[in-house]
Amino acid sequence: MFKQLGLIGCGLMGGSFALAMKQAGLVERVIGYSKSPSTTEKAKQLGVIDQAAESALLAVSGADVVLLAVPVAATESTFKAIRHLVSPGTLFMDVGSTKRDVVDAARRALKDRIGAFVPAHPIAGKELSGVQHADAQLYREQQVILTPLPQTRPELVEKARALWGALGARVRVMTPEAHDAAFAAVSHFPHLLAFAYFTGILQQQEAEEFLRLAGPGFRDFTRIAASDPAMWRDVLIANREEILKQSEFFRGALGVLEQTLRDCEGDALEALVRGVSEARSHWRMGSGRPR
Ligand code: NAP
Repeated sequence: MFKQLGLIGCGLMGGSFALAMKQAGLVERVIGYSKSPSTTEKAKQLGVIDQAAESALLAVSGADVVLLAVPVAATESTFKAIRHLVSPGTLFMDVGSTKRDVVDAARRALKDRIGAFVPAHPIAGKELSGVQHADAQLYREQQVILTPLPQTRPELVEKARALWGALGARVRVMTPEAHDAAFAAVSHFPHLLAFAYFTGILQQQEAEEFLRLAGPGFRDFTRIAASDPAMWRDVLIANREEILKQSEFFRGALGVLEQTLRDCEGDALEALVRGVSEARSHWRMGSGRPR
């Protein structure tokens, strides 16, 4: 049980965390700071926060748990603004989709106070942003990845693990590097691909007619192309090296499929599709390599 959550960034992820903590009875009070006063006002009206703070530092004052739920590019300036109140008596976490840049930013800003920070990435979300979409159930039965550093205090990692667990999430611990490589493959590159694919359609004269005819397969495949532009600018740039590596694997696989089409090799094409189809039909969220 925590006395006070200091929430910095009152949007979808931060708002959902505050609501989930309240619903689980894990916090007495939530003090929120966000870049726009209209956002904290809305968060208050929605019952996400109990009180608005005028600065990030004031949101941290008196908190025993602090969540940074800002765009990843705002991590360093946020940590610099609160650094004087960062101490091991309080659990500090983030929710950023990339971890190497977040950890580097935290190291630069917090210096010898870095031990209080437990980097976290909930594998949950929506293509909708803003506190009006906050949902107390967002993290239930989803994974949360923690990427502690050698300096991170072990008791805070355990506290973070227990807190996310109490919100119904499954917690995994890995290095920031392993995290960024994995999520480039299963999240960041697919977003880049969805943006590119939809762009390719929009560039055609018949785009409107094509889109009018599209069905559920197209809707499912392109859902993530409607994601928040500012958030994805930050994520794609922060993890560009790993994303570009994934792009190479994709181009290789696409090249093989294109060549079988050019050669009109029906049997080869069917064998390729069968292999993928079987692998995908065995895959379940949370399971590893398909048999
Ligand atoms: P969001 O709904 O747009 O919320 C972000 C909030 O932070 C907004 O309310 C925003 O501005 C505020 N903000 C921006 N810069 C700030 C600053 N310097 N100081 C204080 N507040 C600031 O976005 P989100 O989806 O919650 O994303 C937040 C983080 O979660 C990102 O780091 C993202 O990588 C991570 N994440 C997102 C998802 C997802 O599916 N959305 C999934 C996993 C992780 P205003 O105050 O102007 O409203």
